[in-house]
Amino acid sequence: NRWHASVLTLYPDMFPGPLGLSLAGRALHDGRWSLEATDIRAFATDRHRSVDDTPAGGGAGMVLRPDVLDAAIGGVMGPGDARPLICLTPRGRLLDQAKVRALSAGPGCVLLCGRFEGIDQRVIEARGMVELSIGDYVLSGGETAALVLLDACVRLLPGVMGAADSAAEESHGADGLLEYPHYTRPADWQGRAIPPVLLSGHHAEIARWRRAESERITQERRPDLWARHEAKQRGAGGMDG
Ligand code: SAM
Repeated sequence: NRWHASVLTLYPDMFPGPLGLSLAGRALHDGRWSLEATDIRAFATDRHRSVDDTPAGGGAGMVLRPDVLDAAIGGVMGPGDARPLICLTPRGRLLDQAKVRALSAGPGCVLLCGRFEGIDQRVIEARGMVELSIGDYVLSGGETAALVLLDACVRLLPGVMGAADSAAEESHGADGLLEYPHYTRPADWQGRAIPPVLLSGHHAEIARWRRAESERITQERRPDLWARHEAKQRGAGGMDG
């Protein structure tokens, strides 16, 4: 029972796109997950194959029709389908690594990609969709957001990442800190040296340095994450961290 993603889109040719290559592409080829992109337009009923109409109340742009979307959802989700139905929208709750972990631990997902001004609210409510955003900016369509979500989930599926690039020690992990900086050879590059502690072979000191860098960078760049991290430390009684 592999992790199965269904995508509803007006641009099925955008899939698998970049997910057909590299880590996700290899995993797709190896059958660790599967992907099916369905053209919403195939579920249009009128002569012109229309999927959208003008917004009630006036204003610019077009809105995707609820009847067509509902039929498209019914076309990919059977009655017993336990996968969450997710609508990509800039109005959604923000996707984060905790949500990614939860999604990748489940049976897969059904993703609805919006276009134009968006989607008729009634089908979002009637189908109990989860509305997710990938960030505080506006894309021209939900497809690239769907690719982002799928990339984040697929790399966490069992057997997709090697032990070498394990998810155990990366940004947005259990401790809620951003990752420390990385270096590799040459030891001296354009007059810039690798921090000497990293070449010392002293594992405890290296771990201390990395931890301090993680904390510094998180504090500097993401006061929101730092506040959450500190609250968590206090909650866990970790006053000596
Ligand atoms: N009128 C909408 C609003 O102001 O909220 C924006 C519509 S946007 C031009 C078209 C589609 O792109 C949306 O329906 C959604 O599917 C997708 N989209 C845009 N930004 C997104 C984001 N940050 N996260 C997820 N999906 C997004």
